[in-house]
Amino acid sequence: MPDKTEALVMEEPGELAVHQLDVPALEPTDLLVDVELSGICGSDVHMFEGGMDLDFPILPGHEFSGVIEEMGEAVETDAKGEPVEVGDKVTVVPGIVCGECWYCNNVPARPTTCENRDVYGFLNTEYRQEIHGGFSEYMIADGRSSFYKLPDDMDVELGALAEPLAVATRAFERSYGPGIPDAREGFGVGKSVAVQGAGPVGLLVMSAAAAAGAGQIIAVDAIEDRLDLAAEFGATDLVDITDFDGDEDLIRGVKERTPGNVGPDVAVEAAGIPDAFQQGIELPRDGGTLVEVGHYAYSGETEVNPTRVVQKDINIRGSLAYPPNQFETAISLLDQLKDEVPFRKLFNHKVGFDEAESAYEKQQSGEAFRATIHPSGV
Ligand SMILES: [Zn+2]
Ligand SMILES: [Zn+2]
Repeated sequence: MPDKTEALVMEEPGELAVHQLDVPALEPTDLLVDVELSGICGSDVHMFEGGMDLDFPILPGHEFSGVIEEMGEAVETDAKGEPVEVGDKVTVVPGIVCGECWYCNNVPARPTTCENRDVYGFLNTEYRQEIHGGFSEYMIADGRSSFYKLPDDMDVELGALAEPLAVATRAFERSYGPGIPDAREGFGVGKSVAVQGAGPVGLLVMSAAAAAGAGQIIAVDAIEDRLDLAAEFGATDLVDITDFDGDEDLIRGVKERTPGNVGPDVAVEAAGIPDAFQQGIELPRDGGTLVEVGHYAYSGETEVNPTRVVQKDINIRGSLAYPPNQFETAISLLDQLKDEVPFRKLFNHKVGFDEAESAYEKQQSGEAFRATIHPSGV
C-alpha cells in the first residue's frame, strides 16, 4: 500500500498547488482508489472563480474513476451488491448524507436535501484526515459513501462520466412523473424533448432521452461544434440560436419542428443561463414539463411571468444531483451505449497535474467539453 500521494489542492479560489499527502491506514470499511482521471465540472470552475463559499484549502475533484488499490477488511461488495476485489475498476458517488436529520429520515430519495451533506471534491484538506478529492493519485472512499464497480469490458475512463450522467439521467427522469404517456402526462416513448444547452450535461440528457425512446430530440445551442456533437449524442433536430432573431422567433422555430407546432412535451434547461429558463417556460406545449438542471450554481436572475406558468398549466421541476443508485442507471446506460455514442469525445482536453490550471481555464472558456486531470499523467 502506498504511504504517500500527490494531490491537487485549491488553496484559495484560483490558486492550485500539488501537495504530497500521507495515505492514512485504512479503516475496515475504507476503499483506497488509484485514480485514473477526474473531470473538471462547471461547479469546479465556479469554485475556481470564487463563487462558492467553502472552507479552503479544498481537495477538489468529484467526477472520477480508477481501480481499487486496497480495501479495508470489511469491504466485500459495491453498492449494487457485486463482489469486488483489488484491481477492479470503480467510480465513487461523491455525496454523503448524515442519515440522521429530518430530511434523511423523511425524504431519503432526495439526498441533496440532507442538512449535513458532505461531498467529496468540496471538502477541506483536514476533513476526517482523509484524502478525499478526485484530483489525487490515490483517494479514500470511506464506508459512508457508495461506490460502483464498472463492467470488466468498460474503459475505466468512461467511469468518470458516471457522475455527470447521473445528473443528466436524474434530471431527465424528473420529466417522467406522473408517467401516463398515453394521456401525455410526463415523458413517454415517442414523445418530443427539447434540450437547451449542448454542454456535457445537455448532451448526456439527449443520450438518455434517446435510450428512453424519445421520438424527437431537439438540441438548442449557439455553438456549431456542440450542435454537431449533439447529433452524435441522439439529437434528431439541431436548432442554432444564432439563426433566430430573439427569443420569440427562437421559440416559434422550435415549436414549428414539433407535432402540431405546439412545442415539445418536455424541455430540459441545461444551459445554466438565466434567460434560458424564461425561454424554457415558453418552449414546452401547454400541459408539458420543464426540467431545470442548468442552474446548480448561482448565475444570475431572469424575469418570470407567473401568469404564463398558470395559463400553460405547465409542470416545472428542479433537479439537483441524484440519489446514489442513479450511478447504477448511469453505468448501465454507458454500458448499453458505449459502442454507439462517442462519449469519449467529451474528454477533449486531458492533462496531468502540471497543466491543471490551463485545464480549468479551458473548461471555463468552453473550449473543453470536459477537461480531465489524470493524476498519473495522460
Ligand atoms: Zn460535477
Ligand atoms: Zn441528513
